[in-house]
Amino acid sequence: MAVQKTQGFILKREDVRETSLALTIYTRDFGKLKLISKGVRSPDQRFVSAYELFALDDIVFYERKKKNFFLLSQCELINFFPKVRESLERISCAAYFVELLNSVTQLGDKNFKLYELLLNCLELLSGKASPKRVTRIFEIKLLSLLGFMPGIKSCVNCDRKLEKAKSRFSLSLGGALCETCFARDKNARSILAGTINFMSHIADLPFDRIRHVKVAGRVGKEVERLLKSFIGYHLEIRPKSMAFMEKIGV
Ligand SMILES: [Zn+2]
Repeated sequence: MAVQKTQGFILKREDVRETSLALTIYTRDFGKLKLISKGVRSPDQRFVSAYELFALDDIVFYERKKKNFFLLSQCELINFFPKVRESLERISCAAYFVELLNSVTQLGDKNFKLYELLLNCLELLSGKASPKRVTRIFEIKLLSLLGFMPGIKSCVNCDRKLEKAKSRFSLSLGGALCETCFARDKNARSILAGTINFMSHIADLPFDRIRHVKVAGRVGKEVERLLKSFIGYHLEIRPKSMAFMEKIGV
């Protein structure tokens, strides 16, 4: 592979030996890549913005023969998202976005829409939008783009149209059940019509129209609980940053 240029977000950084860093970067043109950056940890460069979590960088890299990583030869900061870093609440949300994206993607799987989603959500998180709301948007759009969206448009068992006020949500079956199918999962719990509406809207609407979708407190709480358990159950992941968010009440 010749020398390549692209842009990408730092998803993860690990120290390697004395002076190098192993970086996992979600790139615009190549999907997720693992790159080694040599000589970046000298004492006077202990803090380099471009290598910080969720920084967006211009990068130049090339393939290391017979190795499963790339060598990073240039890394220049495009956006540090300083507004996000001013608040612990917003930082923890951004850390969750990159951890979740890292958990659900494979190296080299290119998906421009995932790249764009992270960019849009970090920009939204840099403004006045509630961090909780941006987090729900990120989760729903991510599940939707990956094809893991909970079945909420029709009954997951019989495919009949749902009477929203009489639906229940089955975690194990991955979606809502109509009244006739309640017996398919005795653990299915009632679900608010507002929750179904909110999740469908977010999944369907283009990003620039999402910021106008309102959510009531009760619905917001239910969506949060539902997505947390859905991600844990179906994607089998429980990001560390999610536990931290719970601790600080995000
Ligand atoms: Zn049914």
